[in-house]
Amino acid sequence: MTNDHEISEQAVSTLQQHFGDRCILPGDSEYQDEIQLWNGAIDRYPAVVVGCQHTDDVVNALEVATNNDIPFSVKAGGHMTTGHALVEDGIVLDLSPLNRVELRDETITVGGGATWDAVNEVALEHGLLPPGIPETVGVGGFTLGGGMGVTGRLNGLACDNLVSAEVVTAAGDVVTASATENEDLYWALRGGGGNLGVVTSFAFECIKETRECLVANVLYPIEEASEYLTYFGEVAPELPAETFPTAALLTIPELPDLPEELHGELAVAGYVMCVGTDDSFKKALEEFADFGDPHVAAVYPADYTELYLPFQVPTGQRHHWESFYFKELDMTFADALVEEALPMPTPQTSIALYGLGGAINEVDPTATAYPHRDAPFALHLTTHWLDETDDDRCIEWTRAVHQALREHGTGGEYVNNQTDTDEDRVRAAYGVNYDRIAEVKSRWDPADWFRSTQHVEPKS
Ligand SMILES: Cc1cc2nc3c(=O)[nH]c(=O)nc-3n(C[C@H](O)[C@H](O)[C@H](O)COP(=O)(O)OP(=O)(O)OC[C@H]3O[C@@H](n4cnc5c(N)ncnc54)[C@H](O)[C@@H]3O)c2cc1C
Repeated sequence: MTNDHEISEQAVSTLQQHFGDRCILPGDSEYQDEIQLWNGAIDRYPAVVVGCQHTDDVVNALEVATNNDIPFSVKAGGHMTTGHALVEDGIVLDLSPLNRVELRDETITVGGGATWDAVNEVALEHGLLPPGIPETVGVGGFTLGGGMGVTGRLNGLACDNLVSAEVVTAAGDVVTASATENEDLYWALRGGGGNLGVVTSFAFECIKETRECLVANVLYPIEEASEYLTYFGEVAPELPAETFPTAALLTIPELPDLPEELHGELAVAGYVMCVGTDDSFKKALEEFADFGDPHVAAVYPADYTELYLPFQVPTGQRHHWESFYFKELDMTFADALVEEALPMPTPQTSIALYGLGGAINEVDPTATAYPHRDAPFALHLTTHWLDETDDDRCIEWTRAVHQALREHGTGGEYVNNQTDTDEDRVRAAYGVNYDRIAEVKSRWDPADWFRSTQHVEPKS
């Protein structure tokens, strides 16, 4: 006898003995909720989901999986659009119960399944800013892929602020990775994705910074897209390190604070988040917003927790994301972008451009496994739709635009914003560090158990 998704009764029974009612099977009332990812376009049906509350639970689940040759996946915040958090017919290690958050001095230690909003709640209370985002995104996937947070240009990626991690390896050992212990693993965790082990806790250095922020928010008619993006390309690198500048092609949403006559119009937008409210920052944002003839141009104060509110999307809608890094945002690239990208397939879809630089780019490309240190910009195609019947049309559009524009890029892609993950895309994500990740994996996961991720084979 097997359950609906074909793993042995004996394996299920061992998991049930250990996990009790935290062992969820198809047919259980909690199963549908457990397999609901942020990206509702993912249909994948694991044989069992186990809720891991302690490091011991992770050790136990890995032991059952490896002893019985059952594939497994690791789910933290469940936000990665690839859907790697779920594995068909295998065991899902749901880390969401492993979510404690502890603060000591300026170091915050969080469980491997914690989400950034929960971490922020504790850190902000103590006058600290963690290296993440004000979102329900998981710390796990975000950090292991690099992690471009609001304070990125000021203080580096999330992975740059990781001081140590507790990891359960494929062999079931519990080890620490840091600058002084298991340095190869520590190197690979900082950008190498979920290839190495299950991280049961992350310790980050936070910065003492105010939660009081500023935002510059501008909207222009779509006809001005090329001109505006070229302007953005010139000024974004010059903005203070405290800022995180973004621009986007989008459809103006039906928000009450936007003029009704603009709702549904295509537009080009600029959105710059700034940590701190100093007069010099305000002046820089006002100068940034003082360009051309905008529909809307506003500079206003915001709490750190409010910075992502304009972009929030409920769990379960449909998405296909792709990305690439590029070096220059000039008129040639801006024209090509507008030419290829418009019309976008749905009003929910947008194309976002991030101004990187600052502390992100001060790190050597081989110092951590995240390699894209020489690119001052990244482009993210975030195709988003509501109806399953639009799947093919939206996915094909994303692939075509990505393919057409990639030639303007560095060849690198952001592992956390990919949805297609065939080998050349994974190579583009790990770039110059691909081979070294494979070498480190051959020490920590020689039998290649960690495959439900942008996968690198261990070097033989
Ligand atoms: C709404 C939204 C906003 C976003 N904003 C940003 C942004 O501003 N900047 C940015 O850089 N990215 C951003 N992202 C992308 C985000 O970084 C990735 O989606 C990330 O993978 C999400 O992590 P997760 O833990 O929620 O995902 P999951 O789907 O749970 O995990 C993804 C993969 O990571 C691995 N993994 C996760 N946790 C662990 C762990 N503890 N141990 C071992 N492996 C683990 C597993 O392989 C897993 O399959 C955003 C995504 C969304 C949906």
